[in-house]
Amino acid sequence: MKQITIIGCGVVGAAIAYELSLSPGFRVTVIDQAAAGQGATAAALGVAMAVISHKVKGRNWRLREASLHRYRSLIPELETLTGQAIQHNTQGILSLCFDAEDLPRWRSLQDIRQRQGYRLELWQPEVVCDRCPHLNLDRVAAAIYSPQDFQINPTELTQALVAGARANGVEFHFGQPVVGFDGADPAPDSRVCGAVHTASQSLTTDAIVISAGLGTLPLTQTLHQPVAVGPVLGQALRIHLDTPLGQSDFQPVVNGNDIHLVPLGEGDYWVGATVEFPPETSLDEALAMQPEAERLEAVLAGAIAYCPAIAQGTVTQRWLGLRPRPQGQAAPVIQPLAGYSNIWLATGHYRNGVLLAPATALAVRDALERLG
Ligand SMILES: Cc1cc2nc3c(=O)[nH]c(=O)nc-3n(C[C@H](O)[C@H](O)[C@H](O)COP(=O)(O)OP(=O)(O)OC[C@H]3O[C@@H](n4cnc5c(N)ncnc54)[C@H](O)[C@@H]3O)c2cc1C
Repeated sequence: MKQITIIGCGVVGAAIAYELSLSPGFRVTVIDQAAAGQGATAAALGVAMAVISHKVKGRNWRLREASLHRYRSLIPELETLTGQAIQHNTQGILSLCFDAEDLPRWRSLQDIRQRQGYRLELWQPEVVCDRCPHLNLDRVAAAIYSPQDFQINPTELTQALVAGARANGVEFHFGQPVVGFDGADPAPDSRVCGAVHTASQSLTTDAIVISAGLGTLPLTQTLHQPVAVGPVLGQALRIHLDTPLGQSDFQPVVNGNDIHLVPLGEGDYWVGATVEFPPETSLDEALAMQPEAERLEAVLAGAIAYCPAIAQGTVTQRWLGLRPRPQGQAAPVIQPLAGYSNIWLATGHYRNGVLLAPATALAVRDALERLG
């Protein structure tokens, strides 16, 4: 059996651990400096935009599609294995289009998706009014409804992945930052890293997966192959309304101008998120930064503009997170670490880590199986 060590237990590391736990050829250990899902994953809204995304070919679409497929079996599989329900919304995503000039692009996407076997509906404002009477349609030219896209609670998902992996024999070590590696001396040829060190223990390993999000740069610097993954701040909030919005039997995620309104049930909604690039900011500086409250207020105002009833709600929670964004290459980074024959990167998922975690896990599993 091959010993695999996964560094980082956000939604990506947890998904990889679970997927590997289903393969008989791997013994898997996961290390995280904190508890599971405390990084970017804790801040995510879990909106999974696959069919409604404008990516139609290439690696990015393939990953989205693979995740969409895997999610269909993954959610019931985990719920059965762990006995825990995972909050998720399968009523689709409704994206409001405020500019009639964008409609030809949406029609073209609709055609492409039809050929690919997916459904996208273009709704005239009257249809939107009928299905979602809570939305303000003054400036809405049309809406695009994607019934096959969905939303999932990232924290509950991560916990279920950890519980499922643990039930299948994966070992977890939480509260242990990885501080070094064996075989990490600079060398020109292909190196093999034989052990991972935390402050309190050394774990011998056959292969390593770095799914450490914003921890990727320091870890790869230790390995003399720096991979830059920088922070992009996101703020979001939770709001409670005494009277739930719209029709009780139709509660899709709504998106307008890149602002999500995510129904959680019983009058609770997530609203977000900001996308803020702290210029030239290191991770330590970003972690110490005070978020600008006005930016989150602007997101709330944007949501109120398309859904005025939100203005009557009470904000019950505000939070922020740092998205791991690769610098100088496209998100996500799923590839071997240059110079090493047994280290894989599964990182830099930026705005789509929850969506892409299952596809990432499948890609990593396939790569590790090929290592022989
Ligand atoms: C406000 C907001 C909204 C978002 N909404 C969505 C959304 O709707 N849909 C979507 O798909 N994505 C969304 N995202 C993006 C998503 O959160 C990320 O892409 C995803 O969580 C990345 O997961 P990850 O596991 O790679 O990273 P993380 O969750 O950050 O996990 C990395 C883990 O590595 C650990 N680690 C780091 N360094 C070390 C080390 N040296 N040793 C041990 N452990 C280490 C950390 O403790 C952490 O647990 C959102 C993000 C934000 C901030």
